[in-house]
Formats: sequence, C-alpha cells, structure tokens
Amino acid sequence: MRLLVIEDDLELANGLVNALGQSHHAAEAVHTGQAALALCAVTQYDLVILDLGLPDGDGIALLRRLRLQGLAAPVLILTARDHLQDRIAGLDAGADDYLAKPFALGELEARIRALWRRGASTNPLLSFGRIEFDPASRQLAVQGKPVAATARELAVLELLLRRSGGVVSKNQMIESLYTWDQEVNPTMIEVFVSRLRRKLERADAGVEIRALRGLGYRLEQHAHA
Ligand code: CA
Repeated sequence: MRLLVIEDDLELANGLVNALGQSHHAAEAVHTGQAALALCAVTQYDLVILDLGLPDGDGIALLRRLRLQGLAAPVLILTARDHLQDRIAGLDAGADDYLAKPFALGELEARIRALWRRGASTNPLLSFGRIEFDPASRQLAVQGKPVAATARELAVLELLLRRSGGVVSKNQMIESLYTWDQEVNPTMIEVFVSRLRRKLERADAGVEIRALRGLGYRLEQHAHA
C-alpha cells in the first residue's frame, strides 16, 4: 500500500515512515501543504495521513483542496487538537477517520487496516488468468491455492495486474518500490520479475510476464490458458 504522511513534526514524520515501511507499506512524508498538493497531483496514494497543524496553512483547508484536486484515497487526520469541533470540521472536509496525538502506533496501524478494508469492498480482488490477488490482505492465489511471494514481488505483480494488458515501465516499478530501498538498482527490478515469473510458472498461473525491450513489462495470458 502506498501512503503519504503530511506532518511537519520531522521526528514524528520520520518515525511513521519507518514504522509503516516495516509493515511493508511504501510510505513517504512531506512537511508542508504545498508539497502535499504537488505530490498528490502526480502520485496515486492508497491512504493519506494528515496532520491538521501545518506551517503553511490549516490541514482542513488543505484536505478540501486535495479532495477538489481529485484525491480519492482515504484520509486519516492526525492531530493534537482533540476537540469535537475539529473532528467535525475534519470529517466534513472529507476525512475518513481521526486520531488524536499522542497515539499508539498499534492503534494507527489498526485504523489504517480498517480504512483499507472499508475501501476494499469497492476495490475487489485483482485477477488475471488463473491469478487472484487481494490488495488489502496481500494474498496471492492461483486457482484458489495460496502462493508465497515477498512484499516487493507482490508490489511488482500488483502494478502489472492493475494495468492488465498494459505496459509497466521499469521506472514505474522503481517508483513504487523506492521507499523500501533508498537506492534501487534497476537490475533489482529484473531480479524481482524473474523470481515472480518462476513462482507463477511453478503455480501454473497461465500467465507470462513479457519483457518489452526499452518499454517495460506486460502481463499476458498464455495462448493455451
Ligand atoms: Ca503539526
């Protein structure tokens, strides 16, 4: 899951990015509303964590602008201002949940899972050939049988499934993986793809990850599948 943390407290922002990274989320942080608007215009996030007190404006006004700009992801508001009025204003502006500081990391993670599950009912399983992948639980199955894969292999597969029939460039893969590895060597993408290929082949998934020179990769069904 790709998450954006909008939080000007650097220590908290970095702590969240690290903790969420350990739970296999690709999380990144920005510290101002302007930076959040710029990033959300070009990146599709699955969930946004928003602090209400930002240096360049109010988080509630920012949330309205993000929604106007087309942000569809669930938004969890994080703030020290645990007043009823702020909660109401935040929810009215398009937030999906609210957590008051200080909070326990475990509670934040439980709320992220709950928001994701709620969204997952409109975000069903991704399937292709005999593959079924549940983006919420990160479970991969071929003809109902679970297939074990690493978080990075699943992230690569998810990109291919979401663009089924279309090409995913190596750069797009790097971009969706880079928060796990500061320095991603492009050849690592080839390694993830080839491991994934072997696993899908072994599970008889009936699909092929085709490399298109200079373009990227595309998921294709076997002609006989
Ligand atoms: Ca703040």
